[in-house]
Amino acid sequence: AKYTGADRAREHTSALDATAQHHAELAAGLRRGLERGEFKLLYQPIVELPSGSVAAVEALIRWQPNDQPVISPAEFIPVAEHSGLIIDLGAWIIDTACADAAAWQLRYGTAGPLVSINVSARQLLDPDLPGMVADALSRHGLTPDRITIEITETAVFAGGAAMETVRELRELGVGVALDDFGTGHSSLTLLRTCPVTTLKVDKSFIDDLNGTAEQEAIASSLSTIAATLGLRAVAEGVETQDQADRLHALGYRYAQGFHFSRPIPAPDIDALLNAPVLT
Ligand code: C2E
Ligand code: CA
Ligand code: CA
Ligand code: CA
Repeated sequence: AKYTGADRAREHTSALDATAQHHAELAAGLRRGLERGEFKLLYQPIVELPSGSVAAVEALIRWQPNDQPVISPAEFIPVAEHSGLIIDLGAWIIDTACADAAAWQLRYGTAGPLVSINVSARQLLDPDLPGMVADALSRHGLTPDRITIEITETAVFAGGAAMETVRELRELGVGVALDDFGTGHSSLTLLRTCPVTTLKVDKSFIDDLNGTAEQEAIASSLSTIAATLGLRAVAEGVETQDQADRLHALGYRYAQGFHFSRPIPAPDIDALLNAPVLT
């Protein structure tokens, strides 16, 4: 039999159906997982250079459906976004991260780690986000400046309302970080209008810091821009001591990456704080 265009169209449709069905199953699993408490937050240290002492931590979510392997956020966050579950999941993330931040504030005062919380595009478009953050702060008795909300450029450009949400977050007194900085299309334009407090310089600018003039010039310019605008710069994805040394020489005060620590459970952060420094 001849293989026709109609056959191909049918195969294409069933492949799409399979993807759609996989997403629908994943979305249902996510909702059940939220009810059953299958999510947890890990925290990755953001250290001060050159000492390596923990200045802040970034909350990174993990999903472990009962006794199955851990599923990465890169796989399920887009599904949660698409299905709308990100709003409820996001509320859980904000609440849990604020609870941990409040415990650290009680234990260590202002020496405790600041806590960064990722929010996705759909959350940033939700007009209830600032209210949700304010509620979590007051529920846990947490000072607003102990947390930073990490947003992406794409999210800010997704709609006019996102910028207003950023302003409201700043009015609450929480920090706002621009994540993956430099990977979007108009990072510099955004800096004139979006009142962020931190730039997280994307790993792609940090990876090849092997002494080539171009890479060093870019990494150094990004830290200069941050300093000039009165913003913190955090170098992301630092994997070697050599990178850490070069970043420090280029003016970076904060860095994050597997070289210092992978994302770890909250009690392990306490162990790091009680032991002096990361190298
Ligand atoms: P991101 O916000 O850019 O987070 C940094 C990612 O890079 C994390 O992956 C982290 O484990 C990884 N990373 C850190 N240091 C290194 C390094 O030295 N080398 C390499 N190769 N990777 C490093 P993770 O935890 O798998 O998260 C992936 C993405 O999922 C995050 O990217 C973020 O966009 C999203 N995500 C994670 N947690 C949350 C959350 O609670 N809410 C939302 N909305 N998104 C989240
Ligand atoms: Ca982030
Ligand atoms: Ca990032
Ligand atoms: Ca990212």
